[in-house]
Amino acid sequence: MNLPNDFIQKYRKLLKNEAFAFLSSFSQKPISAFRIESQRFHSDLSIYQPIPEIPSGYYGKISGKQIEFLSGAVYSQEPSAMYVAQVLAPTSKDFVLDLCAAPGGKTTYLASQMGNKGRLLANEIDLKRAKILTENVGRMGYRNVVVSNETPENLANKFPTTFSKILVDAPCSGEGMFRKDPKAIQYWSLAYPKSCAKKQKRILKAALRMLSPGGTLVYSTCTFSPEENEGVISTILEENPDLKLSSIPNPPVGARPGEPSFGNNNPELRKCLRFYPHCFKGEGQFVAKIKKVGHLSKSKLKTRIRNSRLTSEIKNFSDVILKEYLKDIFRVSDQYYLLNQHFYEEVKDLHLIKRGVKIGSIKKNRFIPHQELFLSLPKQTFKRIISLNDEQFKAYCHGEELKIGSNETLKSWIALSYQDYIFAFGHLVQGNIKNFYPKNLRNY
Ligand code: SAM
Repeated sequence: MNLPNDFIQKYRKLLKNEAFAFLSSFSQKPISAFRIESQRFHSDLSIYQPIPEIPSGYYGKISGKQIEFLSGAVYSQEPSAMYVAQVLAPTSKDFVLDLCAAPGGKTTYLASQMGNKGRLLANEIDLKRAKILTENVGRMGYRNVVVSNETPENLANKFPTTFSKILVDAPCSGEGMFRKDPKAIQYWSLAYPKSCAKKQKRILKAALRMLSPGGTLVYSTCTFSPEENEGVISTILEENPDLKLSSIPNPPVGARPGEPSFGNNNPELRKCLRFYPHCFKGEGQFVAKIKKVGHLSKSKLKTRIRNSRLTSEIKNFSDVILKEYLKDIFRVSDQYYLLNQHFYEEVKDLHLIKRGVKIGSIKKNRFIPHQELFLSLPKQTFKRIISLNDEQFKAYCHGEELKIGSNETLKSWIALSYQDYIFAFGHLVQGNIKNFYPKNLRNY
């Protein structure tokens, strides 16, 4: 890999006798890994090596064409990035903000740690990227996530001292991703980390306005530069006496403490973690865990509003295909969503890209379900599932209609599975399954 000369000189100075091992790591292959959604994943894991300290993480590659991916049972993510979301450790009781969330690697891990319950607001400033985030959250079927497309400042004006947990996975110079994405090297210059640090401080300032007293904020970057890591944290701590760095318990083997001399020499900076690829089997990352002094106020999410106004169209649909009625449904124009309605009320004035699970819409007095509904419910919820063989699976993913037998007289919506994973739905009419596989997912 052709690293810029200024980069090499900078890290020779900073890392001294470790610089050789650090710089050599750039010519090694990037590390591939994935996280499983344990409620769904049931394939053989014995061929994959578990990642220490990440209970759902494994080294290895799962392609975008594999059923485990298409059914939302896995998310491909390198190990150091997984670790960041684990440091925040949200539960279903938290009100969580993921401020710089696309494409969603950390959002999906946060949603999973929250047990698919509670409130997770995943925000992304870039609309195109917010849509990718939406697709990833939708594929994994999370019911506790809303996606917004706002600036950090706008959000801060609307949600002062609101969130009990915040993740700021900041835009950065991306040095830790050079192995995975060598194109990123072209944007690097000696001045780049400094300009990134300015932006990061601005984002962090807005984030800190939204952090509740007693709340926890995790700041991370995928870069090594002192300016964007210990430098940013030093400034933030100097400017905010109500903030304290927290230790990160049980750091993984190979993770290094933060380096006080990379910031303002505050020994507390050792509480941060640095992931170097020559020390840890993953890509580059920096993590800091910050606590705001004070006590969390108890802002519990109220339980759901009863669905007394479930339309007959949805009732009819549920009767045919589901073993139980859907709860937490609400309507916005002609679309129906699955999400705690109190959560929706709290965030509905934002520019929302995703309001929980999109379950379907009413067209000509008929309920037309949406793909996300089928990816959000456990398999045992469905009354009627048709299991596809290899050929049928490929044909369906390609967008074709399937013939499953002329004896089949039932006319109904059905869930479709392959290798025991629900991955889609179709409309069964006279032995043919009409294809409703979303066009953006069609492959093969
Ligand atoms: N957390 C994501 C994940 O795990 O998949 C990765 C986030 S990426 C490192 C940083 C994100 O910050 C990008 O999606 C980028 O669009 C967004 N961003 C860029 N400038 C921003 C700004 N001024 N304020 C907030 N977010 C910004």
